[in-house]
Amino acid sequence: MPVLFDQLEQVSEQVAAWKQQGLRVAFVPTMGNLHKGHLQLCNTAQKHADKVIVSIYVNPLQFGENEDYASYPRTLEADQNALKSVGVDALFCPNEAVMYADGVAASTTVSVPKVAELWCGASRPGHFTGVTTVVCKLLNIVQPDVALFGEKDYQQLYIIRRMVHDLFIPVKIIGVPTQREESGLALSSRNQYLNKEERQRAAFIHELLMENKAQLTSGQRNFREMEQNAVEMLEKRGFRPDYYAICRVQDLQLATDPAETEWVILVAAHLGAARLIDNCVISLRNAV
Ligand code: AMP
Repeated sequence: MPVLFDQLEQVSEQVAAWKQQGLRVAFVPTMGNLHKGHLQLCNTAQKHADKVIVSIYVNPLQFGENEDYASYPRTLEADQNALKSVGVDALFCPNEAVMYADGVAASTTVSVPKVAELWCGASRPGHFTGVTTVVCKLLNIVQPDVALFGEKDYQQLYIIRRMVHDLFIPVKIIGVPTQREESGLALSSRNQYLNKEERQRAAFIHELLMENKAQLTSGQRNFREMEQNAVEMLEKRGFRPDYYAICRVQDLQLATDPAETEWVILVAAHLGAARLIDNCVISLRNAV
């Protein structure tokens, strides 16, 4: 089993001891209910460091009032076994009193402007401030050499890179490709809110992204029309789309320039009780 910590000092002492031995430390922050996507982050972490520490913390600050904070799946025992199976060294599971000693509302927060108000930031106001605040706190506690995040949460990864860059946080951020079910559905803890039929239908999001990727690759540039078609196709299949956006990779603003050679399509859509997000990067850089 990975050694389990719930106090800040335990983590600092352990990491300091590792560093004193000249070992490199990788950190994987999660909200638990671990699946193969999370474990892929751990496997990649092991390639970049000698010791891997994972955190599990369902962060209240990043959930909106009517979101699933209370019902978010908490499965510590299964998570510990999963982390054991991939040889993770330590697990940090703080409670709210540890992470927000003076209460969540009184906490200092960290916000990345502009980009955090787009897309998921627009449909979930305050969400990214919650994410950057808790990630900043966790990075300050653990002080790892590298920290790993999934490309599945593309906007989140972008915002964390910006925070680390802007605040000179001494850590290297590594993005890990999205792990998917055979159907193409991106693995997510929230997939369990889907029933069997919805889960099959959910794979359509990836299908749609692949279709638009092929269209962009073959020279189609009617971005807004492509987005509109995608939204209609999602609605026709019973999704309630939040957004479907073909964006510039450099700032996640809507793509407008047909001469550009790289894009990311960002999508969020509700299906049944789940809110699903996915994305796809299209790069023609090597093709032109
Ligand atoms: P979460 O527990 O959902 O907050 O996710 C913790 C980390 O795992 C984040 O960096 C996510 O981007 C990453 N992650 C979640 N799902 C996947 C996936 N399917 N593939 C790769 N990484 C993922």
